[in-house]
Amino acid sequence: MLIRKDERWFVQPNPVTGAAEDWPVTRAVLDRHYDQAEKILAPQRYPLDVEPYASTPKTLAFRGAAQRAGLDWSLPNLAVTFGNPGHPAVPGEPIAEAEPNLHGRTRYTCRLVGECDVGCNFGSKNSLDYNYLSMAQREGAVLRTRCEVRRFAPRPEGGFSVWYVEHSSEDEGHRTNTSGLELHAVVCDRLVVSAGTFGTTYLLLKNRDSFPLVSKQLGTRLSGNGDLLGFIRRSKSWAKDGGVTGFAPSLGPVITSTLRVADTVDGGNGPGYYIQEGGLPGFAQWALEAADTPDEAVRATRFAAREVWGAIRHTPKSDLGGEISLLLGGGEDSDGLMILLGMGRDTPNGVMSLRDKWLELHWDLARSRTYFDRVKATMARLAHELDAEFEVNPLWYLRKVITVHGLGGCPMGRNVDEGVVDSTGQVFNYPGLFVADGSVMPGPVGPNPSLTIAALSDKFADALIEPGCA
Ligand code: SF4
Repeated sequence: MLIRKDERWFVQPNPVTGAAEDWPVTRAVLDRHYDQAEKILAPQRYPLDVEPYASTPKTLAFRGAAQRAGLDWSLPNLAVTFGNPGHPAVPGEPIAEAEPNLHGRTRYTCRLVGECDVGCNFGSKNSLDYNYLSMAQREGAVLRTRCEVRRFAPRPEGGFSVWYVEHSSEDEGHRTNTSGLELHAVVCDRLVVSAGTFGTTYLLLKNRDSFPLVSKQLGTRLSGNGDLLGFIRRSKSWAKDGGVTGFAPSLGPVITSTLRVADTVDGGNGPGYYIQEGGLPGFAQWALEAADTPDEAVRATRFAAREVWGAIRHTPKSDLGGEISLLLGGGEDSDGLMILLGMGRDTPNGVMSLRDKWLELHWDLARSRTYFDRVKATMARLAHELDAEFEVNPLWYLRKVITVHGLGGCPMGRNVDEGVVDSTGQVFNYPGLFVADGSVMPGPVGPNPSLTIAALSDKFADALIEPGCA
């Protein structure tokens, strides 16, 4: 999902004092970088106005519930190709690319199989290998895959040295002594670290001795971008009204639409957030059904009994198809499941550090309690509109949340006391050393952060190429 960070959400409560503070960049500054990133990521909205997309159960159910609840529902940009530019959306059509991609393989438009989270087998997702990395390779960049950076340090004569190991495909699946792998070295004038929130923070913490002047803010301002997982189950109304059996969570891309709830800074009455309907691959639906052992066991016993009885009576009648479907059951449980993904303005009070060479994280959920309670309440409201049950991710009862959008650790600031990098991504006190990923966020982005990470990286690239321009 490619959504720009809300204009007024660049002002946030300070995680310690609660006082309002501005991000070192504003929406106005980032908008031209958002434009640039969108040009390359080529987003498309879910084509809900034409079939087969128009009858996507989870999207229709989510929209209906949101609208009945008076919530702000919409179809945002997705980094997925549903149709060739200027042509109608059609599943499984070859994508006409202006230049070949780095795989040299044909991409196909989205087939609605819901496997986005585990990797798209059809090239329908506009993932970085099909755009930025393919462009970089065409410009002469050398892409070294299966390489793990172990160390990096400034060079006395300027620039940086980087030491890395290579993981061979032959070792895959075999126990390997990776500490004994051969170290390779490269040197460079400028170094950009983009290993993600946890990877980049870990690498900088691990190499801190080589960068003694790095800000004391290293490891701070971690947030989960307010991620919260919820489930809607057993709707008593949807199936009847919609004329379909359930929400069909594996039909369609993992996310197709969203709703937005305003923040105090833009007319709301608390921390703002987004909720989106999620999905899962077909095989995960079967796994869910299989996990429903009590029912499964009953069905299996009945199946065996019928087979034995048939054998005893030597009956010629064989209805294997029918028997198998009785054995598998109707799939109500998994088909009647709607996955909800909440994200928004939690409190970035998490701190990462190293303990025995492992990354350790301290994050106090209580500081974001108001936020999470609001998100949960809206999820429960959606379930109510669907005459269904709402269940929050069970980890919640252990005061834990799952995040797929970890942010912070090398926060942007106006000076070395406030942050690790400046508004061009350069590390304070280390000219030529840049960080370009989610770790530079001084707080939650709010919506899905990938587009804001891309826009900031575009801004940082301009600064790297033309210092003083961004
Ligand atoms: S639903 Fe996701 S995984 Fe499936 S084809 Fe579309 S983009 Fe690819």
